Amino acid sequence: MHDVLIAGGGPVGLFLAGELALAGCSVLVLERDQEPGSPLKTLPLGLRGLTAGSAEAFYRRGLLAAVVKASGADENEVGADPEAVGVPVPRGVSHFAGLGLDAATIDASALSFRLPSPAMEGFMTSLEAVTAVLSRWAAALGVDIIRGVAVTAVAQDDEAVVATAGGQEYAARWLVGCDGGRSAVRELVGFDFEGTEPLFTGYVANITFGDPHRLPLGFTLTPNGMYLRTPFEGYLGMMDFDGGTFDRSQPPTREHLETVLRRISGTDVTLTKVHLASSFTDRAMHVTAYRKGRVLLAGDAAHIHSPLGGQGLNLGIGDAVNLGWKLAATVHGHAPDGLLDTYHSERHPVGASVLDWSRAQVATMQPGPNALALRRLVHDLMNTPDGTTHVYRQTSGLFHRYDLGGKHPLVGRTAPDFRFEDGTRLGDLMRQGQGIALEFGSDHVLETTAKGWAGRIRYAAGQVREDLGFRALLVRPDGVVAWVDEDAPDRDEFAQAAAHWFGKPAS
Ligand SMILES: Cc1cc2nc3c(=O)[nH]c(=O)nc-3n(C[C@H](O)[C@H](O)[C@H](O)COP(=O)(O)OP(=O)(O)OC[C@H]3O[C@@H](n4cnc5c(N)ncnc54)[C@H](O)[C@@H]3O)c2cc1C
Repeated sequence: MHDVLIAGGGPVGLFLAGELALAGCSVLVLERDQEPGSPLKTLPLGLRGLTAGSAEAFYRRGLLAAVVKASGADENEVGADPEAVGVPVPRGVSHFAGLGLDAATIDASALSFRLPSPAMEGFMTSLEAVTAVLSRWAAALGVDIIRGVAVTAVAQDDEAVVATAGGQEYAARWLVGCDGGRSAVRELVGFDFEGTEPLFTGYVANITFGDPHRLPLGFTLTPNGMYLRTPFEGYLGMMDFDGGTFDRSQPPTREHLETVLRRISGTDVTLTKVHLASSFTDRAMHVTAYRKGRVLLAGDAAHIHSPLGGQGLNLGIGDAVNLGWKLAATVHGHAPDGLLDTYHSERHPVGASVLDWSRAQVATMQPGPNALALRRLVHDLMNTPDGTTHVYRQTSGLFHRYDLGGKHPLVGRTAPDFRFEDGTRLGDLMRQGQGIALEFGSDHVLETTAKGWAGRIRYAAGQVREDLGFRALLVRPDGVVAWVDEDAPDRDEFAQAAAHWFGKPAS
């Protein structure tokens, strides 16, 4: 029997599998598709934007360079030594409802507690690149992956959970459904899934234009919807405000796409050939609980929304990184009471906020004078330093603060990438997935106390190039700051914080 079964070997399932294996759990991934690759995962339709927050998650497990390389991003810019490149402020920034952000307008002074890091930037990747890197990582850590088996039944009791897939039964202590937006696990276990119905049908297609120069590059909003052309040859995206009524059981035909594009663009543009096309909607649904007994959900299985602004994958990676160490501690029996419940209490509000963010974008892109007026207003606000900075903070994945009860504004946020005098960064110390106790200076006040959590917390001390006024910090395995001390480090306070997140010390 494995410790954890994961249904779905997409990016979220694989990231979670790696996190659990890193923490010493035995993991079996059951994946429906026989082949890891598919044309929908490769460019151009598999194009996905990773935020700086996701880049940071890869960086902290030593995977950033591999993902950057597999994505074909510029290795001299993304993931490079920030001091060498000299990039102290963000550059690659997102958009809101097709309205681009000007990075130069960001008020860097409002971006508190950030230090230069190889993960300063978001970048474009593909589902294929991300899953290939994560599959290799998970396999190297001993994760078992069975392909070509879809989970079709789930049963659980107080001791274990059994999933049926491909006619076989697989037992484990825990099951995590990472099986995407149409999650079978969600249905089979009866999670409540609530939200709002769609206003539009979206399309992404790889096509040959008869007359490619008739439509401009970038987002074009018209009185009838939106279309997007990117520099990728033949890439077309569209939003058709049809109430989400298109029958999505079949891929859209050339005739259908051409009709929709003509109506939205108000031109008689011709599509000569459709090589590949798929559709989506802005249906925004969220499970009301992330856990039912021994079954948890992560990624699209827990939340779906429109891909506007590219948030779903990033949200799912955040779920995986938050859940992995908590579930592992529960499996090993040293989790403090209630630790696993903090997966829901921390991640559900983040999911809800992303769903609202996507709804707000849809509201400003609808056809009609009301949405147009709203759009003008949003445009004006976004062109102010406060507006741009707000959107950047919301979409970069670096500034969310979990309510962990601590008073200091850094507690609950992702840790700055402190750099020791010898060049070692916090991100380098986090590759094994442990918590990190950082102490700045040469007094080593916390060293003996930290030994009580050896294996769970790694202690690191020394002078750092920039300490931001801190003397000591406790960082969780997901990179979130759990405790800080700005004065002489206090052993008792540290021990209390360590016990709160990592359980009782070894006697
Ligand atoms: C057009 C488009 C553009 C997007 N752009 C972005 C973007 O730029 N940035 C961003 O962050 N997000 C983006 N997204 C969203 C992103 O692709 C998803 O949020 C992300 O893929 C979710 O990952 P996941 O692992 O949860 O689910 P999935 O990627 O759907 O993976 C689920 C896996 O589970 C498997 N599976 C399904 N059913 C079963 C079963 N019963 N048993 C076993 N296995 C099963 C599937 O085969 C699949 O491998 C976009 C989405 C679309 C449609």
